[in-house]
Amino acid sequence: MKVLKNRYKREFIEVVCPRCKKTKIVCLPEEPVPACEFCKVQMIIKEILTEGKY
Ligand SMILES: [Zn+2]
Repeated sequence: MKVLKNRYKREFIEVVCPRCKKTKIVCLPEEPVPACEFCKVQMIIKEILTEGKY
């Protein structure tokens, strides 16, 4: 396992495709909100998984 330096505040976001409902976990702001690889539409934020870290 690679240990990441905890230098940047990161938010883990669950995004969902509005068409096929496929979900994916991304880490903002390191990664952009992705497009669905099947539908080619912008995925939308479903839930913010990082809580109480402000
Ligand atoms: Zn999709």
